Amino acid sequence: MKVRVRFAPSPTGPLHIGGVRTALYNYLFARQNGGQMILRIEDTDQTRFVPGAEQYIIEALDWLGIKFDEGVHIGGPFGPYRQSDRKPMYRQYAEQLLRDGWAYYAFDKPEALDAKRKEYEAQKRTFQYDCHTRGEMDNSLNLSADEVQRRIDSGEPYVVRFKFPENLEITVHDLIRGDVTMNSNLLDDKVLFKSDGMPTYHLANIVDDHTMEITHVIRGEEWLPSAPLHVMLYRAFGWEDTMPQFAHLPLLLKPEGNGKLSKRDGDRLGFPVFPLDWHDPKTGELSSGYRERGYVPEAVVNILALLGWNPGTEQEILSMDELIRLFDISRISKNGAKFNVEKARWFNHEYLQMKSDEEIADLFEPQLKEHNVTASREYVVRVCGMMKERINFPSELWDTCCYFFEAPTEYDPAAIKKRWKPGMTTHMAKVVEILNTVPFEYEAIHKALLDDYITANGLNMGQVMNSLRLAVVGKTVGPDMITLVMTIGKDETVKRVNRAIDVIGEPQEN
Ligand code: GLU
Repeated sequence: MKVRVRFAPSPTGPLHIGGVRTALYNYLFARQNGGQMILRIEDTDQTRFVPGAEQYIIEALDWLGIKFDEGVHIGGPFGPYRQSDRKPMYRQYAEQLLRDGWAYYAFDKPEALDAKRKEYEAQKRTFQYDCHTRGEMDNSLNLSADEVQRRIDSGEPYVVRFKFPENLEITVHDLIRGDVTMNSNLLDDKVLFKSDGMPTYHLANIVDDHTMEITHVIRGEEWLPSAPLHVMLYRAFGWEDTMPQFAHLPLLLKPEGNGKLSKRDGDRLGFPVFPLDWHDPKTGELSSGYRERGYVPEAVVNILALLGWNPGTEQEILSMDELIRLFDISRISKNGAKFNVEKARWFNHEYLQMKSDEEIADLFEPQLKEHNVTASREYVVRVCGMMKERINFPSELWDTCCYFFEAPTEYDPAAIKKRWKPGMTTHMAKVVEILNTVPFEYEAIHKALLDDYITANGLNMGQVMNSLRLAVVGKTVGPDMITLVMTIGKDETVKRVNRAIDVIGEPQEN
């Protein structure tokens, strides 16, 4: 059997990271089994259609390296891959179900359904269109064949509903949860098809999975309640022997407390819920994306892969190739997976460290431009090599490295108070003298400054070196002091120290 899986999003907005994880698991499973991965757009609900959403989905998955063999954007032998483009083929399937007694026409007007709901509410009951109530509704089960035909011919709007058999135990075999059984008496007669010729999700999904020869349906847990209907549809069509296997993935939960991770959580808690920035075409509202926040795509893949699955070892850093090799549906958790913001940052840090100094420099260039810095490429690469271990995101590069490119304009008052003690201007003048006379090499500077001056004169090492750092950086942060001096150069260091002597001056004795 050739494995064929599909990712079947509805273009109702930007793709949530839960959806991205679903796509990823499908992709890993397809690749591991030498199978095919298909992108199908499920846009039967035209009222929820959002312009730009389909393009967004394609761009996001491409950015993450989740590739397709067939799909709406690349075509393939089972096309078209957008349900609205497949519209003409669904009617025959609805008719087959009607003919075989698995479905019926329902003419109930929206007002009549509303009235029914209210009537039930008044009795503290909930109305459901099902085997208990369909006998009292305006449908073909209660009308003569002639009357049904007359209404259809006269253009009266109708829907086609699935007719669940009464009191039937329906078992869905799920690869993650095992057997899940539900009694048909609890299930509502879902609408499958409307008189405007549009199928609903349920009909289109089953017809497409069958005709596209899908072997495994890997999707979010929110679809588990629909699975008994889907199993019954396969039975009704006579397609049970080629029915795909199901795997319903656990929910992604909020970092704190319980409950499903929602669109609002991301911006509230400081991490994106979407792969790319999304500008809502209606409200103009911006929701931030991983890409624009500076996440490395490989890190996002790694983070999502481990939300609800683990390889059974301690290994956390996993490349796409390793994930493909190790992925195993039976190791997917049944419980919801909690998003961990700190961990996500850590992953990004680790993936940035795998990048070459050149690549980090590429990420830094736009910020340097913004600050009108003109430094040689070689210098930028060198600084990036030295400083990348200190960042989690490329956006932190400027704050972390700015003093390599600009002299400080102010000096941290707390550091002055703590380090810049009486006599410091004299010591700094001496530092300038040393730098101007020793060979400008690491060992030579180290010996002249630390051994022959500070230690030999019994000075406080921390105070002198931190004052030097304050003069060069503006605060007491940064890499090894002599490396820093060697990097920015003698002239620049001397200039900065002289300026600090002038600006900070000699502290008053107290
Ligand atoms: N169109 C459905 C969705 O948006 C697909 C569900 C499925 O994979 O069957 O999630």
